[in-house]
Amino acid sequence: MIPRRLWWAGGAAGLALLAALAWLAWPRPRPAVPVPPPEAPVPLAAPTLLTPIITADAAAIATRAASAAPTLFQLAGNPRVFIVDFPGLPEQGAAMNRIAALVEKAGAPRDRVLSMPELEQLIAAGNTTAEEFYVGHNYLLSDIRHFLALATAGGEALTPAEQRLALMVDSIAAAAPGDAPVAVLTIPGLGPRMDAGTRAAILGHELGHGIYFTQAGYARHVRGLWHASFTEAERAAFRRFLGSVGYDAQNEELMINEMQAYLLFTRDPRFFSAAQAGMTEARAEELRAMMRQGLQQP
Ligand SMILES: [Zn+2]
Repeated sequence: MIPRRLWWAGGAAGLALLAALAWLAWPRPRPAVPVPPPEAPVPLAAPTLLTPIITADAAAIATRAASAAPTLFQLAGNPRVFIVDFPGLPEQGAAMNRIAALVEKAGAPRDRVLSMPELEQLIAAGNTTAEEFYVGHNYLLSDIRHFLALATAGGEALTPAEQRLALMVDSIAAAAPGDAPVAVLTIPGLGPRMDAGTRAAILGHELGHGIYFTQAGYARHVRGLWHASFTEAERAAFRRFLGSVGYDAQNEELMINEMQAYLLFTRDPRFFSAAQAGMTEARAEELRAMMRQGLQQP
C-alpha cells in the first residue's frame, strides 16, 4: 500500500501533468490545480491514568513485601475481587474512612459525604483514631462510585488519597466490565501496630466479604441460614456484638455479611471468638459447617 502522504503527492503530480498538457493543446488560462488539503492532525493517545493491576492469590498478597504506595491486586481465581494493599493504616484511613462513614458506620448519614471536620468528630466520638477507625475495608465497587457521586453532588472536595482511590475505581471498572457485582477490599501494610498475623487475619476477613459480594449462591445460602437456622436470640446476639464494634445494626444485609465474615472467615481470637456473639464453640462449628455448604453454589 502507498502511505497516505505519498498517495496525495502522486495524485497532485498527475493532476499537474494533465493541466500542463491541456494548456499546450488549448492555450488559454486555466484555473490553478487545486492543492489537496493538508491532512488533519492525528490526535495523540490520551495519557493513561489507569493504576496497574497485579493478579495474585491470597497467600501471595498476605506475605508480600511492604510498598511505599498503594498496590492494586485482582484476586487469582475470582477476577471480580480486587484488593487495595495500602502502605499502612494511616494511608488506608485517609482513603477509606469517609466511605466507611457513608456506607456502614453507625451514627453517620447515609445520604451525604461527611466533611473532614465532621469525620474527625465521628472518629473522636468513637474513642478511636483515623488510623484505626477500621483496620480493613470492604465495599462493592458501586458503593465507592456512590460515594464519589455524592461528594461531587454535595460539593465536598476529595482529599488526595480519595482522588487516588477514584483513579483505581476507573482501573477496576475497566478490568471487570459488566453488571455483575465487583468487590473492593482493602488491607494495611505492616507497621508499628500491624504485625503479619494481624494483617493475614484482616485479609481473611475481607476475603470473606469478597466471596459474599461476588458469589450470589453463597450469599443466598447464608441469608437463608440467618433467617431459618439461627435462632432469634442468636441473631440478636450478633447484632449486639456488631453494634458494639460500630456497625450499623439497623442494616440487616450488613449484619448478615459481617456475621459470615466473622464466624466463618475470622479465626484469629484477637478479632473474634464465638463467645463474643454469645455462642458456644460447638454451636459456632455447627453453623460454620452449614455455611460452608453454600461455598460450592455459584
Ligand atoms: Zn467485615
